[in-house]
Amino acid sequence: MKRVAVLSVHTSPLEQPGTGDAGGMNVYIVQTATRMAQRGIEVEIFTRATSSDLPPVAELAPGVKVRHVVAGPFEGLGKEELPGQLCAFAAGVLRAEARHEPGHYDVVHSHYWLSGQVGWLARERWAVPLVHTAHTLAKVKNLALAASDMPEPRMRVIGEEQVVTEADRLVANTDVEATELIKLYDADPAKVLVVPPGVDLERFRPGDREAARSALGLAPESLVLAFVGRIQPLKAPDVLLRAAAEMVARDPGLRSRLVVLIVGGPSGSGMKTPDQLIRLAAELRISDVVRFLPPQGGAALARVYQAADVVAVPSYNESFGLVALEAQACGTPVVAASVGGLPVAVRDGVSGALVDGHDAEPWARALSDIVLHPGYREELAGNAVGHARRFSWDRTTDSLLAGYAEARDVFREEVFA
Ligand code: UDP
Repeated sequence: MKRVAVLSVHTSPLEQPGTGDAGGMNVYIVQTATRMAQRGIEVEIFTRATSSDLPPVAELAPGVKVRHVVAGPFEGLGKEELPGQLCAFAAGVLRAEARHEPGHYDVVHSHYWLSGQVGWLARERWAVPLVHTAHTLAKVKNLALAASDMPEPRMRVIGEEQVVTEADRLVANTDVEATELIKLYDADPAKVLVVPPGVDLERFRPGDREAARSALGLAPESLVLAFVGRIQPLKAPDVLLRAAAEMVARDPGLRSRLVVLIVGGPSGSGMKTPDQLIRLAAELRISDVVRFLPPQGGAALARVYQAADVVAVPSYNESFGLVALEAQACGTPVVAASVGGLPVAVRDGVSGALVDGHDAEPWARALSDIVLHPGYREELAGNAVGHARRFSWDRTTDSLLAGYAEARDVFREEVFA
């Protein structure tokens, strides 16, 4: 394996995750691409150019190039409008490859269905296998919508079905996602690989809680409940706010110590500030308890996890939930919704708690059980670090490379049979 083409149409690996369309998928691509390059494989990531200032090619890390493909107007194009630009994007990808000798790439790996559509064409044109990771699936999302969320359109469902049929290998984060691909999308089980994602244990590790709190301007005796991620109905940060309001209603004495930290930016709405959540906090009369921070990068995000007593992941669906692993790696227990990959990311009663449904009452109970019982919290915190250490991006990368090699061997047998 010498060269891999990675397709990431709708979001660039150079973007800061935690707002807009940038999240776990960006982290996944950066972490695995840099590790592939460290193993001597050249990685070229194709993404849509979203500014005229971007160079055609940028270096993400030694051995990892980001190619900015012009497809439609640079700015002001929403994700829902991107299906109309896939032809332009595919043309840009094929043109870039045409400058090389034939057989330049050994495999094409597409992320999310929009990229899968382009990968399908690249597979045919280049005669290389297509490996696809869905990251989220429309049929799964539509089965568990938040009340305020819009269903995913039929166009996406059909597009995903086509990619599932055409890809040589489908990468699932967990057994649950593998089953969804097989049961809901009729994927050939022989094509589905389960590859758990990882966590950067250098960056996310236990630290001094008091120092982290002081850096964030939080009092040492605060009870800190944190939400980290893109602010959108699917991620349900409102559930944490309602649970916090319930905790304060039950025990008004908590108000002076409780801090709800919401870290991340709006996604899908084009807003610069999380307006709806700010309004909800006011309606629930807990504005004094809630603090908002814009998306955090580098060591600042690790400090958020270290400062928190507990991190809440109340999503309606989550194919994995990297935030849950990162928090645990920092020694912070996680209370998560019992959906999608979260039961793999969090060990119920061992490294945190899983909650069924999204009602404020059980969420308040699960959070209180941990934050109001320091001994129990410490026990979970210790286990959380051990649990997170079972995941690593190196292992994810090794498994992907094994999947690429397998896909290439099968592809050759089929094509040259
Ligand atoms: N993230 C970040 N800064 C923030 C909030 C989130 O870098 O302020 C990152 C976080 O570290 C995680 C990713 O965004 O790696 C979110 O991934 P997750 O799988 O939790 O959710 P997704 O965004 O894929 O739905």
